[in-house]
Amino acid sequence: MSSDLKQSVEAAAERPEVHAAVADLYTAVQREIDARKPLCVISGKCCRFEDYGHRLFVTTLELAAFIGAVPSMPTGWDGTGCPFQKNKLCSVHQARPFGCRMFFCDPTSTEWQNQRYERFHADLKRLHESLGVSYFYVEWRTALRECLSTNQDNL
Ligand code: SF4
Repeated sequence: MSSDLKQSVEAAAERPEVHAAVADLYTAVQREIDARKPLCVISGKCCRFEDYGHRLFVTTLELAAFIGAVPSMPTGWDGTGCPFQKNKLCSVHQARPFGCRMFFCDPTSTEWQNQRYERFHADLKRLHESLGVSYFYVEWRTALRECLSTNQDNL
């Protein structure tokens, strides 16, 4: 039986207004990033969660938008880092969730990004309410395992 998370994500993914609302939020995030211009040297470290010592969390609406674009897990993932990182790059750049858009290892941007993360995350949370979508906040790989189809039994 599907989990509550999976059911909520799949139901939300069927709704065009969900995709439009998430796209609008991502556009607003990008506007802030373009104005601030935090440095990214493409080290790829931020997506290797175990090495970096942090975790990515995502909401129901981000997952709904994501599975609309990326319905299945990639093959050959070793279970560490993000399954979508290929050769230090994001292979799902257009569909990546909010946390990936907002995180930069540039130390000069830490305070700025923390403030913006809180603000946009509050906006995301309110969107769940206004769209009537159950709010979940789940670690990225855990969510992917629940919500994406896979042929690999060991994922
Ligand atoms: S979705 Fe892309 S940017 Fe986000 S953690 Fe995975 S590889 Fe990195």
